Amino acid sequence: MASNTPIEDSPFSFKPYEEKKGEEFMNEAQQEHFRRILNNWKKDLMSEVDRTMGHMRDDAANYPDPNDRASQESEFSLELRTRDRERKLLKKIDESLATIDSEDYGYCESCGIEIGVKRLEARPTAVLCIDCKTLDEIREKQMS
Ligand SMILES: [Zn+2]
Repeated sequence: MASNTPIEDSPFSFKPYEEKKGEEFMNEAQQEHFRRILNNWKKDLMSEVDRTMGHMRDDAANYPDPNDRASQESEFSLELRTRDRERKLLKKIDESLATIDSEDYGYCESCGIEIGVKRLEARPTAVLCIDCKTLDEIREKQMS
């Protein structure tokens, strides 16, 4: 059955949720499903952050040569950017977890419709439905 294959562009693999016919959107089982996905993702990210920090500490002051230092510094700035991205993502994950608690999770922030289980599995931190997201991207392109 196709529904048991992991989702390709998801940040991790998990068993996709199988919706029963007539099942209510974001019922307790679905909330639990996404809470688990978000928590696992968060755990992964946090161990990633730990690794980055440990790596930066270990490397510091190991390069007496100025040229090595320069390349080390650009490597550091790359890692800092990575860390910044991870931090922002962690914040989004926390926000998503909070909306599960307040029962707002899974509904489009802009128009209020259900974002849908499949889209949420591919993007667990999505706050917009696909239509609003598309509009958003068009607007962004026009502004730049
Ligand atoms: Zn929408």
